[in-house]
Amino acid sequence: MNKIIDLIDEEQRYQNNTIRLIPSENFISEAVKQALSSDLSNKYAEGYPGKRYYQGNKFIDEIENLAIERGKRLFKVEHMNVQPYSGSPANAAILMALLEPGDKICGMKLSAGGHLTHGHPRITFSGKFFESVQYDVDSEGKIDYEALEEMVEREKPKLIFCGGTAYPWKIDWQIFSKIASKVNAYLIADIAHIAGLIVGGVHESPVDFVDVISSTTHKTLRGPRGAFIGVTKKGLERDSELAKKIDRAVFPGLQGGPHMNTIAAMAVAFEEASRPEFKEYANQIIKNAQALKRGLEMVGSGRDRSVPLKIFGTENHLLVIDCGFEKGKEVAVKLEEMGIIVNANTIPHDQAGPFKPSGIRVGTPAMTTKGWKEKEFEEVGERIGRMIINM
Ligand SMILES: *Cc1c(COP(=O)(O)O)cnc(C)c1O
Repeated sequence: MNKIIDLIDEEQRYQNNTIRLIPSENFISEAVKQALSSDLSNKYAEGYPGKRYYQGNKFIDEIENLAIERGKRLFKVEHMNVQPYSGSPANAAILMALLEPGDKICGMKLSAGGHLTHGHPRITFSGKFFESVQYDVDSEGKIDYEALEEMVEREKPKLIFCGGTAYPWKIDWQIFSKIASKVNAYLIADIAHIAGLIVGGVHESPVDFVDVISSTTHKTLRGPRGAFIGVTKKGLERDSELAKKIDRAVFPGLQGGPHMNTIAAMAVAFEEASRPEFKEYANQIIKNAQALKRGLEMVGSGRDRSVPLKIFGTENHLLVIDCGFEKGKEVAVKLEEMGIIVNANTIPHDQAGPFKPSGIRVGTPAMTTKGWKEKEFEEVGERIGRMIINM
């Protein structure tokens, strides 16, 4: 026990004494932490509020209902399920709810910034149990909507994922909606990365354009590790059973007892994200990403070398930087030695594989929570850029 406490203390110090630029990470509030470490962790509550398989759930029901109500209001959806253990199980539940094994799905390639759960072939459940077709990005790293449309019309997938994990541009929900409606495919917006930007008003919401919204709660939204699935008005108009199908797929389809401490922490985070300060936070995330880019560009502007760094982005909270063929991991390790924590990442059309990618991914949500402004991000951008060109 003491050994673990010591290690947790060390990790806490490490997190606070280094520069955290992994775009999917953030720092939770004390209130979220309190809910997470509460005695709610002791309770079994299989089922849904009012329909539990265990007794003793009167307060638990109130907590889950509150999380659902706050989540629905925040994301303007008709129905919400807050029980998925994390983003990947949430997407698995959606596939289970809406499709049969072997049906065709469509998502963005991993190398283009897509997520494993969007049909990455062979090694993932979504690529193994479903037939998958994948769309790519252009040389700037932007979704090639024309190629997507052509592929969708040809392949006629039953479900399309939009949303990414290393995608530095805004997503055009309207175009996706038009394309999906041509073949009557379910359209799922996976907003795991940008949920906080959406509720903060700096990225358009997909709610009017898609059937289902899937999201984690621990990235820009700054809540606990967890996820939710939202069903939109459009989704219910298309299929009045949609909400029921989603709920049944999460439980009993895929999961057992929900993690009530996480759900309580989600309710806390939803409330925090509805405050005016959160809008300021989201705005600052964007300004800081622009500053980070400016810093990186200072290095490549000719003073240090003739060829500028190839940077993908940014219109949101993250950037992908080309470090040279298979150099991403090496750069990430060197940066770790300097106290700057990033992750290696494929770049669009990467000639190297995902295990030795050519880029790194950097983002601003975590350090913006710590109070960083443009000046700090410009400086760290310049340090990173200088390190890369000197490799
Ligand atoms: C992070 C992420 C997920 C998965 O979330 P986990 O909680 O890591 O399982 C799913 N989709 C997208 C787009 C993500 O960025």
